[in-house]
Amino acid sequence: MPVLEGSVGVEDLVLLEPLDEDSLIKNLQLRFENKEIYTYIGNVVISVNPYQQLPIYGPEFIAKYQDYTFYELKPHIYALANVAYQSLKDRDRDQCILITGESGAGKTEASKLVMSYVAAVCGKGEQVNSVKEQLLQSNPVLEAFGNAKTIRNDNSSRFGKYMDIEFDFKGSPLGGVITNYLLEKSRVVKQLKGERNFHIFYQLLAGADAQLLRALKLEQDASHYTYLNREVSRVHSMDDASNFRDVQSAMSVIGFSEDEIRQVLEVTALVLKLGNVELADEYQANGTPASGIRDGKGIREIGEMMGLSSVELERALCSRTMETAKEKVVTTLNVMQAQYARDALAKNVYSRLFDWIVGRINESIKVDTGEKRKVMGVLDIYGFEILEDNSFEQFVINYCNEKLQQVFIELTLKEEQEEYRREGIPWTEVEYFDNSIICNLIEHSQRGILAMLDEECLRPGVVSDSTFLAKLNHLFSKHNHYESKVTQNAQRQYDHTMGLGCFRICHYAGKVTYNVNGFIDKNNDLLFRDLSQTMWKAKHPLLRSLFPEGNPKEASLKRPPTAGTQFKNSVAILMKNLYSKNPNYIRCIKPNNQQQKGRFSSELAVVQARYLGLLENVRVRRAGYAHRQVYKPFLERYRLLSRSTWPHWNGGDREGVEKVLESVAVSSEEFAYGKTKIFIRSPKTLFHLEEQRRLRL
Ligand code: ADP
Ligand code: MG
Repeated sequence: MPVLEGSVGVEDLVLLEPLDEDSLIKNLQLRFENKEIYTYIGNVVISVNPYQQLPIYGPEFIAKYQDYTFYELKPHIYALANVAYQSLKDRDRDQCILITGESGAGKTEASKLVMSYVAAVCGKGEQVNSVKEQLLQSNPVLEAFGNAKTIRNDNSSRFGKYMDIEFDFKGSPLGGVITNYLLEKSRVVKQLKGERNFHIFYQLLAGADAQLLRALKLEQDASHYTYLNREVSRVHSMDDASNFRDVQSAMSVIGFSEDEIRQVLEVTALVLKLGNVELADEYQANGTPASGIRDGKGIREIGEMMGLSSVELERALCSRTMETAKEKVVTTLNVMQAQYARDALAKNVYSRLFDWIVGRINESIKVDTGEKRKVMGVLDIYGFEILEDNSFEQFVINYCNEKLQQVFIELTLKEEQEEYRREGIPWTEVEYFDNSIICNLIEHSQRGILAMLDEECLRPGVVSDSTFLAKLNHLFSKHNHYESKVTQNAQRQYDHTMGLGCFRICHYAGKVTYNVNGFIDKNNDLLFRDLSQTMWKAKHPLLRSLFPEGNPKEASLKRPPTAGTQFKNSVAILMKNLYSKNPNYIRCIKPNNQQQKGRFSSELAVVQARYLGLLENVRVRRAGYAHRQVYKPFLERYRLLSRSTWPHWNGGDREGVEKVLESVAVSSEEFAYGKTKIFIRSPKTLFHLEEQRRLRL
């Protein structure tokens, strides 16, 4: 029997009556308060973060969801994972699971639930188990180096992640590939009040024994380090010391050697120590301001660990070499500039270390065999962001979400409509907002905002964030999705809320005002050549390998792609990857800002529902049919419901389905016969069929 007793509200928003924003949120709230955090829109799972452990996970539940079809049990991420995995295995269709929502909504937990479900059901044996272990153990490692406590989430992922899990023809896992996006490296040197640096720093200090601390030349006390916020060094509910042991053992399981683990920790320690390098004013003989390093011991230790002399290191931090065709000119940096250089170095070392770790994990989990593989991709990436002060980071994150919305629109809405057309089923057009105009505004290769930013970064002469803004204002003054203070015209009221250094984009999810301050710098993302060349000279093998461009022989005059262009390119690759797969959606909602159980704020939920496009999603689903299935398998499954088709049936598949449906008491409005498939309007009808079937078995 379908297990529906005790459930409140509707389990599928398609069945909501009346359908509006209000009823949608009320339904989610009602269910949330009854600890039913999952709700469907057709095959989309909406998940509301419970902020408490619910007794609905683990082997027993996994086994249950494995044995039933989608609509027979209560909504669950396991059900979605099951459908995706089964269809990958039996129908040879590559799958992707797209998980979106704002920070703290439960994306990463959802992705882990998907992974643990798939790991539990996909094949057995020693070899297979070791692959599974490696895949699962990548999580604690990436979380240690890529997650941090923020105001919104104690364990917030500060990078985007896409993981392809690859299977053989039998559905056993072979390995995978992880792609990471945009680590928030500014966090290495600075955090907001009440936030922390990346977990690994605290884990290392709390978990390392005296011997390791001595070897890494570290003090145990986090407050000793400038880069570690002195206020919150501990997170309630998080045991840094024991997590440190887990991370080390996870690294071994994945295949990092003892030596590699040691080197990773050394580089991590170096970042901390760099933050404590104190720079002081000095003046050259001619009175020009310069800078020098105050703490001789600190810099000596860093030099020793890097395998560099402290003189070389000081020179790299406190001066800058300009090369022209004919000569080299060395200029001294003042204290501010030298501090900037030090922080830039720390950020770069750390973010490159992170990339290296991802690359190293990939090396271990990569699939060597040439056989044809089936792939399941899992995307866990930051949702749409509107902060008080939005900068370059929010701009690219929101661009990525615009692209994901496009995937959603194209794959779900268009596919759906096209399928009806193909199948010859009457369809009433659903209007929806096509956001390609906004994507274009941002990404157009010649006239997009990112292209303008690159142009400005590469243009000789005096460039600044404000020349960039002026360019945008000039180009886009008539664009419907662009606004700024100087482009206000008769139709658009003069807006006092927008600062002069800002522009605003009307995103699909709402208007966001971006402050251009820092755009040029962040897009350039250049490390002074002195620094990369010095790092390349270091004897520390891992550190040195992080700076290949420091090799004077490799030094090309060609500039590396800007941060914006790199991001755009990786988003393009991601999109191509997603478009080639069958999408499954998990939409995560955060019920309150206090990370508290049992509290549901409708105001917060409404905004998120809008960003996620939930109402639109339901409307499209409702306009059409919730289910469709090719005649033959449908007939096979339900043939026992009719005397005409059971036990023998010699006619065609479609005629057989007609006989079956005639024999069950369901209104004919509920069905439509397509060219190759039967379409069923509501999930309830499918329930009914399932129930009848089970009674006969
Ligand atoms: P996001 O990745 O969207 O920022 P997380 O997945 O890290 O959010 O979730 C934030 C926190 O919320 C988790 O650390 C956990 O405490 C809690 N949480 C999320 N999903 C669940 C769940 N299904 N059950 C229990 N707690 C959850
Ligand atoms: Mg996360």
